[in-house]
Amino acid sequence: MYIGGRWLPAQDGRTLPVVSPADGETFDQVARGGAHEVDLAVAAARAALAGPWGRLNGTERGRILMQIGQAVLAHADELAQLEALDTGKPMTTARNDITVLARYFEFYGSAADKLHGESIPFLAGHQVTLVREPLGVTAHIIPWNYPAQMLGRTVAPALAMGNATVLKPAEDTCLSALRFAEIAAAAGLPEGALNVVTGLGEEAGAALAGHPGIDFVSFTGSNEVGTLVQQAAAKNAVKCVLELGGKSPQIVFDDVDMERAVPIVVRAIVQNAGQTCTAGSRLLVQRSIHDRFVGRVAEAFAKVRVGTPAMDLDCGPLMNPAQQRRVQRYIDQARAAGIPVLAEGQIAADAPKTGHYVKPTLFGPVPRDAALAREEVFGPVLAVLPFDDEADAIALANGTDYGLLAAVWTENAGRLQRVAKAVKAGQVFMNCYGAGGGVELPFGGTKRSGHGREKGLLALEELSTTKTLVHFHG
Ligand code: NAD
Repeated sequence: MYIGGRWLPAQDGRTLPVVSPADGETFDQVARGGAHEVDLAVAAARAALAGPWGRLNGTERGRILMQIGQAVLAHADELAQLEALDTGKPMTTARNDITVLARYFEFYGSAADKLHGESIPFLAGHQVTLVREPLGVTAHIIPWNYPAQMLGRTVAPALAMGNATVLKPAEDTCLSALRFAEIAAAAGLPEGALNVVTGLGEEAGAALAGHPGIDFVSFTGSNEVGTLVQQAAAKNAVKCVLELGGKSPQIVFDDVDMERAVPIVVRAIVQNAGQTCTAGSRLLVQRSIHDRFVGRVAEAFAKVRVGTPAMDLDCGPLMNPAQQRRVQRYIDQARAAGIPVLAEGQIAADAPKTGHYVKPTLFGPVPRDAALAREEVFGPVLAVLPFDDEADAIALANGTDYGLLAAVWTENAGRLQRVAKAVKAGQVFMNCYGAGGGVELPFGGTKRSGHGREKGLLALEELSTTKTLVHFHG
């Protein structure tokens, strides 16, 4: 683990295996930290706030963050290899993830001195100033689907605002975070500003979320654990931002530009083997073009190829055996219930049999009350649901517990605006889709998809607080 600028094993020497999703082999190990290491990391972060890191101004912090961005780009090949090995994702995807990691540090580095205070008119003889301050020690618990991107998304704005951070990567995917910590330190990040504690969720994660020494917690992951994290934060009256699951609809009207929409619709569910919170996992299609449009999607879907990172195909394996079983169960149950399979992708013949692969599957029409229509699968499974008209489309789109992302496809500008406004989601894409993309674009959930905003300049507000200074000068 990387704590206070030093490498530490777990106090009790315990480790966790690092398993390759592509072939199921254990190829490394990481320290299994727990409450003791979380104590050390929180103390190191607190010390950083009182030390050189805490004395830097926004311009100086920004300069360091931009240097980190440059250093990530300089190590992009190495980091991408590590990320692909750890997650099983295709090399092209891993390379893109590392570019996005760099981009987060560039974006927030250049923004670190741009969030200004305010002057507030008040009583005669008074000067009132609103200043922005860091929250203090911020905790960041991230999942395994985009380890490097998630790190950048949550840690970069926290550092930009002058917080000191403790990061708990997912137990399955710690490697890029550990290497990143070293690269960031070499690029000038003072010790204690970023601490990385590896370990299990119920040990290190729970200890961090409930630690009395933290001032904020950002959690990205499942709804079940998000609830636990929120409860732990509430006990210490600590603010939390939750980025949870999704069941994002692609709403396709009968005047859609099919040429443009079909590849994007397929990509939005196949990307990262569907292990994307913003995956477009429901395809809502107007009945009048249903067969034509879905036929085109099925054709493209059947061409999807799955393989190892080095094969660099459309998608890789699922993260771990539990996730593979979970996704396969959804597929088997939908088949058993008689939901038609419209197309299947193919697993490369020479992909290791011991890897965590599943066949991407397109189902439809899916009954509106089926699990596939309502629950997050977190795998390459797309559910097609026909709708009649605009009102029906909106009701269907809003008919799950989630509200993370949505897309509307139509050439009718008025309909685009009406539907986009009526859909409950943190982001709505119109005639395009951006699963996970856009460092600049504020992102987050409504309903059970979570609360708070990450990305864009809004993240800087989430990761700071205000102080009102009232000065009587007569
Ligand atoms: P998860 O909730 O199991 O784990 C996420 C993180 O929480 C990991 O670091 C884990 O170690 C930690 N954790 C586990 N138990 C904990 C506990 N008791 N206390 C504190 N921390 C604990 O999620 P996952 O399986 O890694 O990821 C899949 C889920 O994440 C999906 O539901 C997906 O939609 C969601 N997700 C959401 C977003 C988003 O931005 N909204 C992004 C990626 C993933």
